[in-house]
Amino acid sequence: MKYRCALLFGAPGVGKGTQGKILGNIPNFFHCACGDVFRNLRADSPLGRVFIDYSGRGQLVPDEPTIELWRQFIENQTKTGRFHPEQDTLVLDGIPRNVKQAEILKDTLDVVAVFYMKSADEDKLVARIQRRAIKENRLDDANLSIIRDRLHVYEKDTKPVLKFYGRHLVHQINADQPPAKVLVDILRRVVKK
Ligand code: ADP
Repeated sequence: MKYRCALLFGAPGVGKGTQGKILGNIPNFFHCACGDVFRNLRADSPLGRVFIDYSGRGQLVPDEPTIELWRQFIENQTKTGRFHPEQDTLVLDGIPRNVKQAEILKDTLDVVAVFYMKSADEDKLVARIQRRAIKENRLDDANLSIIRDRLHVYEKDTKPVLKFYGRHLVHQINADQPPAKVLVDILRRVVKK
């Protein structure tokens, strides 16, 4: 059985987490942010160390351990009754993060929509990321050159994922609006599905 899912897609800092958290509170939606799954690892576990190494440099964690961790997380959430694959739509945030991951997950995900959250102002993204650094205790958010590296990785490796899923699934959302308006734009399309 494939998981029915909607992808929150867009550059770091564009507001995927904000929207994902809200959507995840609606019955029959389950939000999963891949970065949060990593951040919940113990820092002294083998994969925790790998995560700190790569994310601290603004790079993506290698694909195989990432997908493996994600699968384990979803299976656990299912076993513990938090996620109900038969009735819930998975709201994925931060995964798949490149075309290779999308290929690996081809038989696992039934992607019904991709919400491409787009901001016209990169400086605004950088400012948002820096603001949340202290609030969310994220070292990779504090350093300007690491933020620039992440934006570069996004352009180079993540953006091609849009083409992988194709135009018929992609909904462009103006992420420069206030969060409530962004939410309305997403929900309008979600309920249609
Ligand atoms: P942001 O979207 O602001 O970059 P995330 O919380 O989504 O933040 O990700 C933080 C870091 O976690 C990434 O820079 C990367 O190192 C790692 N990461 C998260 N998701 C993935 C993924 N699907 N594949 C590889 N690395 C990932």
